[in-house]
Amino acid sequence: MTIATTGGCLCGAVRYTLATAPEGYGACHCGMCRKFSGGIELGIDVPPGGLTWDADETLATYTSSEWAERGFCSRCGSSLFWRLTAPGPMQGLLSLSAGSLDSLAGLALTYECYIDSKPEGHAFAGERPRMTEAEVLEMVKAPPPEGET
Ligand SMILES: [Zn+2]
Ligand SMILES: [Zn+2]
Repeated sequence: MTIATTGGCLCGAVRYTLATAPEGYGACHCGMCRKFSGGIELGIDVPPGGLTWDADETLATYTSSEWAERGFCSRCGSSLFWRLTAPGPMQGLLSLSAGSLDSLAGLALTYECYIDSKPEGHAFAGERPRMTEAEVLEMVKAPPPEGET
């Protein structure tokens, strides 16, 4: 099966191409991703330099915390990515909104994070790594959003 490497927003004004095919996608249950996505944010981890914007005139960003920003289409409102801006080994890491990929065929949900923030009304079936907020913060070596260290 051919894994899609292209995607974009709902109106098509923002388009991108990935350097390599994604290996899967993860779910983030945090309250900010819930607001940003309008549901459950599903993201594809893309290393810095792993994505080329083929069209980005309407691409806008919002600084959602001291250590990350979020990208969206200013015309159609599609959620496009979360990007780590905090200094560190993972700076520039993009979590690309999986739904923006032209097809999710052949890809699996491989991990969940902020599992301790997941609303009780829904849950993904199956077994996979599930990280808490504390485990995620330790992984990215960034200070907590509130600034308490
Ligand atoms: Zn758009
Ligand atoms: Zn999140």
